[in-house]
Amino acid sequence: MQVMSTRGKGEKIPATMAVLKGIAADGGLFVPEAFPQIDLDEMAEYAAHEYDILAAKVLGLFFDVPEDTLATLTQQAYAPFDDTRVVPLKRLSDREYVMELTHGPTLAFKDMALQVLPRLIRVGLDIHHQQENVLILTATSGDTGKAALEGFKDVPRTAILVFYPVDGVATMQKLQMVTQEGGNLSVCGVRGNFDDAQTGVKALFANEELKRILKEAGYTFSSANSINIGRLIPQVAYYVYAYAKLLADGMVEKGQKVNFVVPTGNFGNILAAYYAKRMGLPIGKLVCASNHNNVLTDFFKGGKYDANRTFYKTMSPSMDILISSNLERLLYEIAGRDEQAVRQWMASLKASGTYEIPQSAQQALHELFYADFCDEEETGRAIRDTFEKYGYLIDTHTAVAQCVYEKYRQATGDDTVSVVVSTANPYKFTQDVLRCVTGETVEDAFAAADRLAQATGTKIPPQIKELCEKPVLHDGCVDKDDLITAVNTFLHRMGD
Ligand SMILES: *Cc1c(COP(=O)(O)O)cnc(C)c1O
Repeated sequence: MQVMSTRGKGEKIPATMAVLKGIAADGGLFVPEAFPQIDLDEMAEYAAHEYDILAAKVLGLFFDVPEDTLATLTQQAYAPFDDTRVVPLKRLSDREYVMELTHGPTLAFKDMALQVLPRLIRVGLDIHHQQENVLILTATSGDTGKAALEGFKDVPRTAILVFYPVDGVATMQKLQMVTQEGGNLSVCGVRGNFDDAQTGVKALFANEELKRILKEAGYTFSSANSINIGRLIPQVAYYVYAYAKLLADGMVEKGQKVNFVVPTGNFGNILAAYYAKRMGLPIGKLVCASNHNNVLTDFFKGGKYDANRTFYKTMSPSMDILISSNLERLLYEIAGRDEQAVRQWMASLKASGTYEIPQSAQQALHELFYADFCDEEETGRAIRDTFEKYGYLIDTHTAVAQCVYEKYRQATGDDTVSVVVSTANPYKFTQDVLRCVTGETVEDAFAAADRLAQATGTKIPPQIKELCEKPVLHDGCVDKDDLITAVNTFLHRMGD
C-alpha cells in the first residue's frame, strides 16, 4: 500500500519506505491512502490461538511484504512475550474486559509495536535497496526508551542511541535502561529535563555536519517515536484480535458493537483503534482517558486545542503530554482529508499553542469519541477499588482508563460490552501502586516491590526482580547542549 502526508498534496510513497523515513519531508505524518477492510470470520479463526498470524495478516493489509516474511517477523516479535496468548483478555464482569498489552519484554504496551518496528525497518532496507544502515536516535521520558532498546537490540543494520533525563524518569525505568545489553546500542543520560533531551535530539536531526559524518560511517537517521507509521499499524492488530476473540468465545454476536477505553498520551494507541473501526471493526465508542493533563478532554468537549496550560507531573508519566502528535492523523480524516486545513491548524499550534476546529468536525468527533479525565486522587482510588472489587491489580495508567470508564457509564448509562486497555505492569510503578493499595510509603523500589507482592498476592515480574543484580552498562552522561559528543563516541564504538 501507498501512504501520503497529512500536510502534502497527495504524493504517495510505499508504506515500507515511510517506515524508513519516519516523518514526511513537509513535517506531516504518513497516513494510508485508503483503509483496507478486514474479514472478521477469518480473524476469529486466528484469534482462537495465534496472535502472531493475525498480526501478520493486519500488517499485510498495509505493507507490501511477502506473507511468509511477515509471518516470521511477527512470530519473532512476539516470541519473548511471557503469555502464549500474547494479548490476554481478562474478564472483570459480563460487560467489562481488560486487554493486557503488558506481557512484552519491557512490561509496557510500547512493546507491541517496538518489537515489530525494527524488523519492518530491516525488511524496508532490503526492499528499497537502501545501502546505508539506520541509526535511531530517541529521547525518552521512560517507557519508549526501554522498549525501543529491546526491540532494536542486535537487529542487523540498525543501531540505537537513547537519551533520557538523568533525574526525570522513575527508578525502575532508569534501571531498565542503564542495564540494557546488546551490541548495537547505547544509553546516555542528559543533565536536564525531558524537554532538554527532546530538544537536543531534534537539534541532532537538523545538524548537517552530523549528517555528513553519519553518511561517511554508512548510516541515515530514523525515529522510533510513535509518529512512525511502523509503530501505528502493529497496534491496529490487537483491537482486531480483541474483537475476534470475544466473537470466537461467544461473548459478542457478529456485528455487535464493542467500546474501547484507552489511557491516552500521544494519541497513538487510541488512533490505532480508530483505524480498526475504519477498517470495519464493529466499534461503538472510543473512550479517550486522560490524566490531570487533560488537554484532549477539553479538545473533544469544546473543539479547541489549547496547550497553554500548567504541565502536571503525575504518577502516570507516560501520559504527561500537552502536544499529542498523533491527533494530527485523526484531524486529517475528520476534515475529509483536507491537508490545507491540517496545515493551518498545525501552524497555529506551533505559533500560539492553540487551534480550533469547525462545528461540523466537532460533531463528527462526538459521534466517535467520548473523552474525560481523572486527577491523582481518583487514579489512586481506581487502583484500590479495582483490587478490592475484582482482586485485580492495575498500574497507574490503566487506572486512569478504569476510572474514566466508570465515569462514562455513570454519565451515559451505556452498558455496551467494553474493553479497557491495560498499558503497563503495576510493578513498573511500584511505589505509587503500593501507596494506592495499602497507603504505605516505601522509599526503596525493590523493598516496595516485595511489599506489594506480599500485600496483593501478585508476582514480581522477573524483568523487575533481576534489575537489582544487573550491572550498570551505560553510565554516560552529557550536558544538554552536548549530545553530539555521545553520538560521536557511539559511532566510534560501532565502527570498531
Ligand atoms: C505510552 C503510554 C501510554 C500512552 O499511549 P499513547 O499512544 O501515547 O496515547 C499509556 N500508558 C503507558 C504505560 C504508556 O507507556
